[in-house]
Amino acid sequence: MNRYIRKTGNTLIQFSYLFGKSRPQLQRATNSKDIPDNGTPAEAYIAPVYKDRSGIVTIISDDGHFSTGKMIDFLSNKYDMPFTIGGAVINVAWHEAWWEKTITHNSRMELVNHSYNHIRMENGSDIAASTKRLTHELIHSKRYFEKRFGAEQICFVCPENRMCSKGYELLRQSGILAVRQGTRGYNDLSPDQGEEPGEWYNLKTMGIMDQTGPDARETRKKWLEDAVKEKKWLIEMWHNISDEEDGGYQTILREDAEKHLAEIKELSDNGQLWAAKFTEAVKYIVERQHCSVIAVNCNDELHLSLAVRSDGIDTSVFDHPLTVMIRDYGKKIEGLDGPVFKDGSAWYMAELLPGESKALFIS
Ligand SMILES: [Zn+2]
Repeated sequence: MNRYIRKTGNTLIQFSYLFGKSRPQLQRATNSKDIPDNGTPAEAYIAPVYKDRSGIVTIISDDGHFSTGKMIDFLSNKYDMPFTIGGAVINVAWHEAWWEKTITHNSRMELVNHSYNHIRMENGSDIAASTKRLTHELIHSKRYFEKRFGAEQICFVCPENRMCSKGYELLRQSGILAVRQGTRGYNDLSPDQGEEPGEWYNLKTMGIMDQTGPDARETRKKWLEDAVKEKKWLIEMWHNISDEEDGGYQTILREDAEKHLAEIKELSDNGQLWAAKFTEAVKYIVERQHCSVIAVNCNDELHLSLAVRSDGIDTSVFDHPLTVMIRDYGKKIEGLDGPVFKDGSAWYMAELLPGESKALFIS
């Protein structure tokens, strides 16, 4: 057998896998048995989108009202569609037993923190001057969702699409990786750190009822096509979905909603678009930004490894598999999908968790 060592700069890195109750724990040590030191490098990269799709669409329905939740539960089942609900505690708490049961049974739905009382928190506001009140709105609410609904909160949806400097600081300290706000537009598939529109703490969105009238359906369809064509991450901001006009802010009629969901489903089923909940899209992108793929051929085996750089963030939340593309060099790689053809080359597709290593037979 080979000695499995990879030299990275002056340090030897090993990734070992201690699978805990729910997610792999990553550890660094000084001896590697994962990557052979006498292999030849293979060409590989991490796909910008899960399963190498072209774009991402995330639906976030704001506020967490009970009637909206019931409709979303129904539609997400009917269209097999992921939905994120940005819930304010003040709304969700009234029906928390229902939310708990529904989120447990419908894995397509998730609840993401949208503050405690849905208060505007921009610089200059009364609340911006009170760390105590900001802590209640941003941190106590986060704890409420984590305690009541289990999953760790790494995303935040800004009430009224505004946030003060102290609020950003609290969000950052509490492990929030992404914040959706209200500037209109598409997001890049790899946002930068920062608070400017399109950056991690100020992700852009399209309001589902920004356009009304006869062309609205076509406009919404074009968003999806744009996300595919321009390789973007489209975040749609929804509110209520109703059988008839309810006078609410940006309520979409159920008939229009269903048409749009059917279009998303079609683009998802044909492999062009990844429909993802907010948290899973954020995990995929952040993981990709913090991982490097190592691919080496040695003795009829392809050795793959995803090395993780923490860069100061908590990598224990990294539990979404990344899609790794490996260039076909004329040999069959056992157990992988492919080859698929793109950009004039053939590629195999593998899935690895951050920190994971695999050895695959080639023939
Ligand atoms: Zn809201």
